[in-house]
Formats: sequence, structure tokens, C-alpha cells
Amino acid sequence: MDTKKYKVVIVGGGPAGSLTAISLLHLRPELAGEILLLEAKAFPRDKVCGGGVSGRVTAALESLGISLEGLPRVPVSRFSVYFEKEICNPVFGNDKCFVTRRSDFDDRLLNEAAARGAEVRTHTPVAGAYRESRGITVVDRSGNTHHADILVGADGVNGKSRVWFGAPHRGRKTLLLQTEFPRDPECESIDDCMLMDFSVPKYGFPGYAWFFPSLGEEGEPVVNAGISGAPFSSGSYSLLKEAFLATVKYHPEIEAMLPPRIHFKPYPEREFFPFQSGAKERVIFVGEQLGVDCFTGEGLGVCADSAKAAALEIIEALAKEDFSFRGYGRRIRTAEFFPIYFVGKNYMLQNNGIQPNFYFAMVTRQKPLGKRNVVDYYTAAFSGKEPSTVLYTPKFWGMVVRDSAAVLPGWLREISGTSSSRR
Ligand SMILES: Cc1cc2nc3c(=O)[nH]c(=O)nc-3n(C[C@H](O)[C@H](O)[C@H](O)COP(=O)(O)OP(=O)(O)OC[C@H]3O[C@@H](n4cnc5c(N)ncnc54)[C@H](O)[C@@H]3O)c2cc1C
Repeated sequence: MDTKKYKVVIVGGGPAGSLTAISLLHLRPELAGEILLLEAKAFPRDKVCGGGVSGRVTAALESLGISLEGLPRVPVSRFSVYFEKEICNPVFGNDKCFVTRRSDFDDRLLNEAAARGAEVRTHTPVAGAYRESRGITVVDRSGNTHHADILVGADGVNGKSRVWFGAPHRGRKTLLLQTEFPRDPECESIDDCMLMDFSVPKYGFPGYAWFFPSLGEEGEPVVNAGISGAPFSSGSYSLLKEAFLATVKYHPEIEAMLPPRIHFKPYPEREFFPFQSGAKERVIFVGEQLGVDCFTGEGLGVCADSAKAAALEIIEALAKEDFSFRGYGRRIRTAEFFPIYFVGKNYMLQNNGIQPNFYFAMVTRQKPLGKRNVVDYYTAAFSGKEPSTVLYTPKFWGMVVRDSAAVLPGWLREISGTSSSRR
């Protein structure tokens, strides 16, 4: 039985948990030995993921002094956004985005947290936790108890930390399928880009298919592919699979690499929802306990931003001995990922299966020479080339209004049934 009382106990050793520990130790190195991180699995562990790392996340890691040297990864320089036969290729404008294997990436972060002074215990699933008058008690599956002032819930989309503290999840839960197959390194359509095909809504759900250049366990070139957006219910698996196989037909050079039998890994995701509690007395939730960007499914940005926000909140709480975490909501709403979420959500509201929606019209519209469109702005925020608050500027919204006005009449004709063509 443990008797030491820690300042912070973190449940979950994925990127959200590790980055919270690293952010805390970056700001307050004297917390070394005062942070206990409990992870259920042995590391490196597998994580179903596209492995796409945005430039914003890379910049966040750099600001924490985390080196990515030697991490197996494929650098990418642009998105390739498809809608049926229409394509746009916005470039990132920097060299900060890449695709990696999550097992390697997460292991790197967890080791970094341990090296900086967090006490990391893998193979230690937490069975439950409760609040006491002067702290938190955590019980692991072997029956050991651990005590701390604060608990960080970093246990991912399937984690139970919200349940232990009566803070139910909000936000739509969806099913994703992910697969991996050998990649011809000469295949130009994905040699240095993250390809996303948004034709998927016409199969009945608001998702997209992705094809990213990645690396296999031995470092061999592979395609990391998958599809998102189906409701989390029985029957979704086969619908998603059919939609994936239909969508890949738009990409014959990728279809040619598909093996005869594809093995898909299903995994849930929950979209970020701003009106949920991100914290309770002495308890703070990070990463996928908050959710992912509903548009692209990017979760690592939420991990990095919420880890930073939680670390600042925790340091303030320890100094003031006020564990209400009242400021956390504001820190999240002013975090870097929030404008991206805001625009993505706007897109999703349009993305109801009735195509075209106005964002897509803007994506694919011929733009005047030298001008940017919505996706160019979104890309600059994703890559970190520009601060994501660029998505709040009057210039950006002026463009949204102008383009909406241009496409709205056609869209209205479409939904009122006076036009038979889809686009
Ligand atoms: C198919 C798919 C593709 C995706 N693609 C991308 C992408 O390309 N880019 C991107 O940015 N994001 C992507 N995401 C989202 C991203 O994977 C997640 O947002 C991210 O993994 C969240 O990190 P986390 O640390 O919050 O949770 P996780 O990575 O799930 O880590 C949680 C950890 O907590 C541990 N744990 C759980 N319960 C307990 C317990 N009781 N006790 C102790 N430990 C526990 C787990 O073992 C796990 O290691 C994708 C998600 C899916 C499903």
C-alpha cells in the first residue's frame, strides 16, 4: 500500500497525460517526484490513429524542449483535399507537419515525462477514484491506493475518469475504421501529402476518408488509411467499410496498392463539445476526455493545448490552495485549437449529406489569382504557419460571407428539389 501523497496523479499515459506531466515539469521543475502517472498498458502500446501530427503540435513540443530526433516519421508539405473529382492542394508553408506511428510517438512522450521527473507506472490500470475532504484517492486494479491533491483524467475516449466524478461525456460519439497496407514510395499522390476525401457524406454520414503516407513497424513505407463519421452503433462497421471501398475508387493509384483482404481496426472518437465540464473540484480532464476536432478528427492538438491549460491551472491551484479550477473553461476557449474547432463545427453543420454545402463550394471554387480561400486559412492554422486566431479575423469572415452569398442560391435550389444535379 502506498502512503506517499503526490501533488498530482495522472490517469493515462497517452499524449494528453504525458504532455500534462511534461508541461507541469517544464513550468515547475521542482514538481519532480510529486507527479504520479498511472498507465494501464505496457509501453510502447498500439493506438488506432491516422498518425498525422500538425505543425501546431510540433511547435508545442518544441516549446517544451521535446526533441523529435530519431522519431520514425514521414514529413508532409500539403493537404490534398478531394470532393469527388474536385481537388485542392493547400500547402502548409513550413516543414513542421508529419505522419508517424503513434506507438513510437506516444512512447517518446511517456519516456520524456519520466526523464523529467514524473513517476511513471505502466501495467497499472486504475479501477476507480474518489474525492476526500483533503485530496483524491485512486485505487488501482491490484488494490493499491494512491493519494494526491489533484487528479488529471487523461484516460482517452474509453476511459472512465469522468464517470468516477459524475461528469458525463457530452459530444457525439462516432466510429472510425483504420487500416494499413504497403505503399509504393513512388506513388506521387501521397508521397508528401495528407490526402483527405470528403466525398463520404453522400454515403450517408458526415465523415471523410484519409490516406496518409506512413511507416510500418520495420520502417517500411505504408499507407495509413481509414474513414470517419459513422454513428457509434451496430451496422456502422459494414456501412463504413462499403463507403471506404467506394471512395478509394476515386484514387486508382491508391486502389492499386490495396491488398486483396483489408483488415480494419474500429475505434470510437468523441467530438469536442464546448458546453461540457472540463473540470470538477480537484479533477481536470485533458485530451480525448475533452474530445477531438469534429471536422478533421485531429486530437493531438487538443492534447497539447489542454495539457498546457491544465498545467497552468494546476500550478495556480497549488499556489492558492483553491482546487475549483474555475479558470479552466476560459483557458480552453482561448486555446489555439478553439478557432479551428469553431470553423470546423460550422462546416460540419453544413455537412448533412446534402451536397454541395457552402464550405465545399468555397474549397473547390476557382479563386482569383493570388487570393486565399477558406481552406488556405484553415491549412495555415493547422500547420502553425499562422496563429489560429487568423480564423477569427474580419477578413476571414468577410470572405466566408462573400462566398456563401455566391453559392447559396444554387444550394437552396438543390435542397428545394428544383435542380436534379448534385453539383
Ligand atoms: C482512427 C483514428 C484516427 C485518428 N487520427 C488522428 C490524426 O491523424 N491526428 C490526430 O491529431 N489525432 C488523430 N486521432 C485522435 C487521437 O488519436 C486522439 O485524440 C489521441 O490519441 C488522444 O490522446 P489521449 O492521450 O487523450 O488518449 P489515448 O491516446 O487514448 O491515451 C489514453 C491512455 O490512457 C490509458 N488508460 C485508459 N484507462 C485507464 C485506466 N483506467 N488506468 C490507467 N490507464 C488508463 C490507455 O491505456 C491509454 O494509453 C485519431 C483517432 C482515431 C480513432
